[in-house]
Amino acid sequence: MDLIDLRSDTVTKPTSEMLAAMAAAEVGDDVFGEDPTVKKLEETAARIMGKEACLLVTSGTMGNLVAVLTHTKKGEEVLLESESHIYYYEVGGLSALAGAMPRLVQGQRGRITPQGLADAVRPGNIHFPSPSLLCLENTHNRGGGTVSTPSEMHEVIALARQLGLRIHLDGARIFNAALAAGVRVSALAEGCDSVMFCLSKGLGAPVGSLLAGSREFINSARKWRKMVGGGMRQSGVIAAAGLVALETMTERLAEDHANAKFLAAGLANIPKLTLDADLVQTNIVVVELGQELGGADDFLTRLKAEGVLATNFGPHSVRFVTHKDVNRQGVDYALQVIARMVR
Ligand SMILES: *Cc1c(COP(=O)(O)O)cnc(C)c1O
Repeated sequence: MDLIDLRSDTVTKPTSEMLAAMAAAEVGDDVFGEDPTVKKLEETAARIMGKEACLLVTSGTMGNLVAVLTHTKKGEEVLLESESHIYYYEVGGLSALAGAMPRLVQGQRGRITPQGLADAVRPGNIHFPSPSLLCLENTHNRGGGTVSTPSEMHEVIALARQLGLRIHLDGARIFNAALAAGVRVSALAEGCDSVMFCLSKGLGAPVGSLLAGSREFINSARKWRKMVGGGMRQSGVIAAAGLVALETMTERLAEDHANAKFLAAGLANIPKLTLDADLVQTNIVVVELGQELGGADDFLTRLKAEGVLATNFGPHSVRFVTHKDVNRQGVDYALQVIARMVR
């Protein structure tokens, strides 16, 4: 039997329509600005995000790094949530490569509130680095796939503006967020100077993320992308799959959300596991393991032996992510395995 791989939505394989589009893509050298398929993807994505321009990057990590490089100067302070992806999972690139000084904001399940931001920003003083950028994340991965609504975002953005900050949105899963909030992605990107989103997660494309913003921002970001080695040549091959992802894969995310809710409801009924199924909003389910189950690594090893994969999300917590390549039957199988294991 195939493994039920719930480690991440990044494990999704390209669809046959994507593979056909990749094979047929019209390409050129994109560093010379000559790849028509990349141009089409960048224009399409900019329109969807409600921004002037867009840039194809190799990964979400590169998109976030290029955004920080473009928005900030060395030594400036970047405010971001204490468990944000940029801070937690991107190898410290914002410090190591962009020379930025992170200052952490305490969020509520990853969501930054105006109060949290106000508490984190210090008044101007000769001792302090100058704050210049606020990074938001929607959906918030470590928060458990939590969604910020446009009005929640706008309250924080309004305060950030008063404080003179620029705003970058890590929207790796912005289509999941928009679907759950019942709004267009452009409503979530509104007010942000830049937004990054991934084609290679729930949308199923093999490679690629996009960074959107003003034309001036993207012109500058294009040079930073070149500097960090992200200038690609016949990248229309990748972009072709990205276009299919945007056309065909955004609405079906509802299925992933329904499967996550089903999984969460099932897990909540299993003794020794703790989670609030009502808090599951998108395709991420995080569960706390009772002490008697041993640690997360041990639990995951036993789960793998039964053909189910998930990820370590802390010493006693495990993350499951639903996606197009695991159907309801697969999720149900995972639930049965876990119920048996825990008993
Ligand atoms: C996955 C992810 C990224 C990074 O994307 P990669 O393509 O894996 O580099 C950034 N932010 C969030 C919130 C993510 O979940």
